[in-house]
Amino acid sequence: MSGVPAGSREAVRRLQAEVAALHAELTRYQLVVWTAGNVSGRVPGTDLFVIKPSGVSYDELDADAMVVCDLDGNLVEGERQPSSDTAAHAYVYRHLPEVGGVVHTHSTYATAWAARGEPVPCVLTMAADEFGGEIPIGPFALIGDDSIGRGIVETLRESRSPAVLMQNHGPFTVGRDARSAVKAAVMVEDVARTVHIARQLGAPLPIAQEHVDSLYDRYQNVYGQTQQQTGGVA
Ligand SMILES: [Zn+2]
Repeated sequence: MSGVPAGSREAVRRLQAEVAALHAELTRYQLVVWTAGNVSGRVPGTDLFVIKPSGVSYDELDADAMVVCDLDGNLVEGERQPSSDTAAHAYVYRHLPEVGGVVHTHSTYATAWAARGEPVPCVLTMAADEFGGEIPIGPFALIGDDSIGRGIVETLRESRSPAVLMQNHGPFTVGRDARSAVKAAVMVEDVARTVHIARQLGAPLPIAQEHVDSLYDRYQNVYGQTQQQTGGVA
């Protein structure tokens, strides 16, 4: 069985290996427990993406285990069922053409902010760099139709942030590729944790909007380009 065009087979293989390897970052940074967290990546030049199969432990995820879906979330190639979050990933790819990677976790601190429905305020320079402002809250949405995907897309369109905390649920992050989306997932947890700790000790100091803007512009443009030229990932 294969709906993968012959000309894209090599790109799919490469992405399956990359997305499989990126799942190890979720456990390395302790963003997931059991099988609850997933990474996907858009296959360049196609209407396909690669995503984790449902219910498989992180130790067993290799390139062969990764499944290929179309942008409606239908299985195109793979032995197993795609992740139960596939519809949300597919919705994001359908509606945000610049997005090449999506990650979802229930990482503890980010999800604690989501449980309160409270955006993480921009009180750290690294948060201004990465998120360009507060990390927004998306609507409460149940799995089973397009409502999670729609909530993610509508919230991200209103924000510079590549991360949204879906209320009572947890973070979804996007990036130009799967690796960038994983980086955003790591950073959102780090920022959520640090701001939480700062709150325990007193009121965090706000950063003036003009400084948030200049930090964000510098990091996304100057720093990002330097990283691209050296082959790294900003
Ligand atoms: Zn979830």
